[in-house]
Amino acid sequence: MVFDLKQFLQTGRTPYETAFACDLSGWDWPGYAPCGPVKASFSAVPGENGAELQLNVSAGISAACARCLEPVRQDHSFFRRWQVREQDLFSEELELPISEKGALDLDELIFEELVLEVPPVLLCSPDCEGLCPVCGTPKAAGCSCCTAGQSAPADARLAILKELLSE
Ligand SMILES: [Zn+2]
Ligand SMILES: [Zn+2]
Repeated sequence: MVFDLKQFLQTGRTPYETAFACDLSGWDWPGYAPCGPVKASFSAVPGENGAELQLNVSAGISAACARCLEPVRQDHSFFRRWQVREQDLFSEELELPISEKGALDLDELIFEELVLEVPPVLLCSPDCEGLCPVCGTPKAAGCSCCTAGQSAPADARLAILKELLSE
């Protein structure tokens, strides 16, 4: 979805508002992806000092836990606001995806803001214990080596190192 921001700044006299869902499933997400269409509402309000843009985004994302690889699902909802003047439309400081013709790419904007919003490391729970170093199953699942009272056989190389250090 594209919003003609340049034209709005030049001729917009009444607020513009839209709500939509966008399919961003094929985008280049860093390690996770939206579970379905991303819901958004966008508004532009003209004022004496350019226009105020507001964006609300609500998205469910799915990923694999960074420690145990179990599926993770999170919901993220956030709000952003920008003040834009016509003379700033093509300024480097205005960090909005605007085309040469002055159109604001809302899909791109939602993608960029969602990437900023979602934490870079996703865990199934804040205290996820990760995988058992012996058998590789999630520790939460309680494999036999982990439940056998922490008596997992130590790594042979570690044992040698310990011996060397204690000498
Ligand atoms: Zn986990
Ligand atoms: Zn194990």
